[in-house]
Amino acid sequence: ATPTALMVGTGRGAQLGILIKGPEVLETTRKVDTIVLDKTGTVTTGKMTLLAVHTADGTDEDDVLRLAGALEHSSEHPIAQAVASGAAARIGTLPTPEGFANIAGLGVQGIVEGHAVLVGREKLLAEWAISLPVGLERAKAEAEAAGRTAIAVAWDGEARAVLEVADAVKETSPEAIKRLRALGLTPMLLTGDNKAVAEAVAAEVGIAPEHVIAEVMPQDKVDVVKRLQKEGRSVAMVGDGVNDAAALAQADLGLAMGTGTDAAIEAGDLTLVRGDLRVAADAIRLSRKTLGTIR
Ligand code: ADP
Ligand code: MG
Repeated sequence: ATPTALMVGTGRGAQLGILIKGPEVLETTRKVDTIVLDKTGTVTTGKMTLLAVHTADGTDEDDVLRLAGALEHSSEHPIAQAVASGAAARIGTLPTPEGFANIAGLGVQGIVEGHAVLVGREKLLAEWAISLPVGLERAKAEAEAAGRTAIAVAWDGEARAVLEVADAVKETSPEAIKRLRALGLTPMLLTGDNKAVAEAVAAEVGIAPEHVIAEVMPQDKVDVVKRLQKEGRSVAMVGDGVNDAAALAQADLGLAMGTGTDAAIEAGDLTLVRGDLRVAADAIRLSRKTLGTIR
């Protein structure tokens, strides 16, 4: 937590696990009418698992797991952790990449066992003029229709596999969204993930499809918040700091998941210590109430 963080509403805020940056934050909680929720790690647990591997003709599944797993082992992204641990569980020790780069919102690239490997969105492969063969394209579409995230794997200029990863909605998220609505806020879902996946998650937690903003690059999340502000909305945003710290800072009220990164806690006005989205609603209600009694 930051040195400036202090408890709101004294005993009650402490019990709920809410940290607030300063008293000026309270005023903002009264104005916000829209709440933007980052998907991964906020509405969902962010703990993904590798569910399936679809290989292209002539590609060996173990090669996919070894090369993709090795690269993802170097990334902190929840998807990367799912791929790396899923691969290690199936094939054992992973090789060490000879080169590695993280491309925010797209995936990872690097050199493993002398191969130039890409793991990430189809868009990452497209940047290298690599397209998915029909079979993998179909596997990707089916995975996404089922609400799973499809990750493409390519090496040496050819698409080799599609990995299916899935992330569970937090048990508390549907109730949290109800509470936010009860406070008069419009919830919106923001994600870099695919539209089909985002809409499946939205349906599960009770967010309207027209309030889903998907396929947004990390650096563009801040622009989404700015656009909503230009439309006259007063925007609260909840995130875990993975690719959304700038948007949290731009929001009129930034709420950081305490289970997220230090960047989130730095950027946020409020920190939800336990990472429970229901507490976002409680924090806003309590802040409004505190303001009512102190002025
Ligand atoms: P969110 O907005 O849901 O928090 P991100 O902006 O972090 O998601 O990532 C957007 C998308 O980019 C992911 O759904 C995934 O398809 C892809 N991606 C990002 N990082 C990785 C990675 N390390 N490995 C594979 N895919 C990745
Ligand atoms: Mg995120």
